[in-house]
Amino acid sequence: MNWLWSSADLIAAMHGRPIGNLPQGVTGISIDSRAIAPGEAFFAIKGDRVDGHDFASFAVANGAGLLVVSEGKLPALGRLVTPMIVVQDVLQALIDLGCAARDRTAARIIAVTGSVGKTTSKEMLRQALSPSGSVHASVASFNNHWGVPLTLARMPETTDYGIFEIGMNHADEIRPLVGMVRPHIAMITTIAPAHLGNFRNLEEIAAAKAEIFEGLVPGGHAILNRDNKQFAFLEGAAQAAGVSHIHTFGADPASEFRLLDFTSGPEGSLLRAAVGGQTLEVPMGAPGRHIAENAVAVLGAVHLAGGDIEKAMAGLATMEAEKGRGRRYRLAKDGGWFTLIDESYNANPASMRAAIALLHDAEPHGRGRRIAVLGDMLEMGEHSPAVHADLAEPLVSAAIGTVWLGGPDMAALRDALPEGIETDYRDTADALAVHALAAVQPGDVLVVKSSKGTGFSRIVAALLDKY
Ligand code: ATP
Ligand code: MG
Repeated sequence: MNWLWSSADLIAAMHGRPIGNLPQGVTGISIDSRAIAPGEAFFAIKGDRVDGHDFASFAVANGAGLLVVSEGKLPALGRLVTPMIVVQDVLQALIDLGCAARDRTAARIIAVTGSVGKTTSKEMLRQALSPSGSVHASVASFNNHWGVPLTLARMPETTDYGIFEIGMNHADEIRPLVGMVRPHIAMITTIAPAHLGNFRNLEEIAAAKAEIFEGLVPGGHAILNRDNKQFAFLEGAAQAAGVSHIHTFGADPASEFRLLDFTSGPEGSLLRAAVGGQTLEVPMGAPGRHIAENAVAVLGAVHLAGGDIEKAMAGLATMEAEKGRGRRYRLAKDGGWFTLIDESYNANPASMRAAIALLHDAEPHGRGRRIAVLGDMLEMGEHSPAVHADLAEPLVSAAIGTVWLGGPDMAALRDALPEGIETDYRDTADALAVHALAAVQPGDVLVVKSSKGTGFSRIVAALLDKY
């Protein structure tokens, strides 16, 4: 049997106390009793809303081979006969196991942070490096205080490339996470106003992202976005942290990994880039200039990690836009069809602009319109009215003729849009869905974009359901 962890190694790494007849090992690690696979270890993590200990019996019913539980909760688990490892604190045990996973592997480790584009870049790295060796990468956006140690603990010993998404909402969150990951290569996609409510300005956001340099292994590499306004600040922070190799990517001619040219198409795009002394022509499966910008950083990371660049390019060509992040649908209505671009996963000022650019590049047919269906960007604090109103400029520059808005914060954009743009406004996502279902016409292209918490994915679901 190919165990992810032997029980002996689990006990040693977590300083745990075994109870019952432990299996020889476990096939995986899970913190979700619904998603656990037979033979995996269930870690009863206590979250903000639920305590995993309350779901231990479900995990057992679903095949958990072993439970990792905390000493204080033992009395409540009295009836369970499943083998257990008892620890003081389950999250700390997961962290300890993650660190043991990092210690035992010879993998090249790449960490990705940034205000937007982390998951996109992480999935591109997975695709780009898979032909060069075995890849272990974060699931979804598992990038926080439990997502990062969980991803580490799940990393097989024989991994060739470990790829970690690292996120933050506040200062001092990245430092401990990167301390566990200890990357050889750290990449910062871009700095943009996300979670602005928790920071005074962009420099504070950049400073929080710069914590990633502190965890680089000696002799490690940083990859920075030369086109970003915070580049000079980040470069200074990398130097101050003693980073030995600082690399840059972007369209700026001084970039080491340089975006030479970008041609957009409705189904994908073509980029030309200079990486490692070669000029590369890279067809991209997913459209959007922002995707191409991430791709250049990814190709730079593949180059530094010693991966095969030709095969990496082939991987990027077959990648499609993900659900909620630019995936396209052609939907039938009234004997014709319209195009829906689903960008409903999340939004902040940078990704809103990227979505508006996508809509600009898309081609309506017949008498179709370009329609931006936009909802509130959350967590913008006192800056909220200004950052919403500021979207008028990119909408006008991209010549978007029709704008449908939903949510209280979008009232500021409604008021800022010039006459001549056909504008509709509703208070809620659901009211806007009713409007969208009725008003969309054959030939139109719509992009739906909003913060996750606003429920704009229901507008996408309603359109997919009806048409
Ligand atoms: P989260 O913090 O929610 O995990 P993330 O950093 O993982 O976000 P992605 O999921 O990759 O980000 O992308 C989120 C959105 O940002 C996407 O919808 C995409 O449109 C946009 N986006 C991705 N990369 C960029 C970029 N380099 N510049 C601007 N927008 C981008
Ligand atoms: Mg993410």
